[in-house]
Amino acid sequence: MEKGYTGAHGFKRFLVLINPFGGQGKAKQIWQQSASPVFQTAHLDCQVIFTEYRNHARSIVRNIDLNTLDAILSVGGDGLFHECLNGLGDRKDSDSAFETPLCMIPGGTGNAFSYNATQQTHPALVALEIVKGVKKSFDLMSFDQNGSRSYSFLSANYGIIADSDVGTDNLRFMGENRAFLGFFLRLLQKPSWNCKVEMEVVSSDRNEIRKNYLQHLQRTSVNRDGGFADNIIKLPLYNEENISRVNLDINDLSVFYAGLLPYVAADMRVFPACHVDDGLIDIAVVRANPFRKSLLSIFTCVESGEHFYSKYLSYYKVRSFRFTPINTGHHHFFVLDGEEYPFEPFECRAAPSLGTTLAS
Ligand code: ADP
Ligand code: MG
Repeated sequence: MEKGYTGAHGFKRFLVLINPFGGQGKAKQIWQQSASPVFQTAHLDCQVIFTEYRNHARSIVRNIDLNTLDAILSVGGDGLFHECLNGLGDRKDSDSAFETPLCMIPGGTGNAFSYNATQQTHPALVALEIVKGVKKSFDLMSFDQNGSRSYSFLSANYGIIADSDVGTDNLRFMGENRAFLGFFLRLLQKPSWNCKVEMEVVSSDRNEIRKNYLQHLQRTSVNRDGGFADNIIKLPLYNEENISRVNLDINDLSVFYAGLLPYVAADMRVFPACHVDDGLIDIAVVRANPFRKSLLSIFTCVESGEHFYSKYLSYYKVRSFRFTPINTGHHHFFVLDGEEYPFEPFECRAAPSLGTTLAS
């Protein structure tokens, strides 16, 4: 390869942030053995920093001179990526800062972003996709709670999935199995979750949602479900004049899952009608009625996405929503992008195509 090669995309200087405690503590090894050789082969410059504490990556990205780098690479899980994203969002120049590509090498327990961006799970193959990738945009949502703003790229999550994830943090050594164990324990305990949701709904008709999804797939010539499109002019899929306000008072909830990416993991296609850049938030609501039967029937077909048509599930495409968790005496969690956030009301609004990454 010629000296001075800048990668297929012309981006050369990468700030690499590694969480040495992500997942089962393997992020450093993953970087050194699988990803770094790919970046070296492509003659890309990598400035490597190991994070030393929670929110370290966020403060580095908030304060760094973005003129000294071309892209940021997060080596860890979705939690570290969430920190990097919010480092960009915290900046005074956040509008232009969000144009800095943010990429991810899977090194955590949950690595949803890298799978959605590349459809690969092996870190070396993910690295290769980044090295040969070009700039692509993806949707974010703003998240306002207690007067402060954050950004989310993945999900706002309440109910059995949230509790199974964050409520098992003490079992980190088990890797991703901890969430399954947490899930089955709660299936036995049968707790209840209450909440209030106020949404600006664009559609809740699953046939229409699916039809528009397929139309978007054709228009953008994305050759894989939900993948990143080239930066083309996007036409609106829905008539946004038909927005309706839907308020739900739920006292028998088992899952509230709002998000922006089709896959939570390679084997969990949670939003089968979602494109990373469709400009809207997808919401799935499952009521505990009947509790075990509905959850088991949904979770046994979430890999293929067939749960989309389940009678136990309501599906909404929304522009924004306001959420109020209601305390029932049980210890429940509210989870944003896999991270625990305060158990307080919040508001989310779609921020279409605000995020930038490198993908092929
Ligand atoms: P996982 O997918 O296993 O949760 P993440 O990389 O997402 O791995 O990180 C898990 C948590 O660790 C996140 O909340 C992140 O903010 C936090 N974190 C990042 N760096 C450090 C560090 N050096 N020490 C402790 N926690 C950290
Ligand atoms: Mg979307």
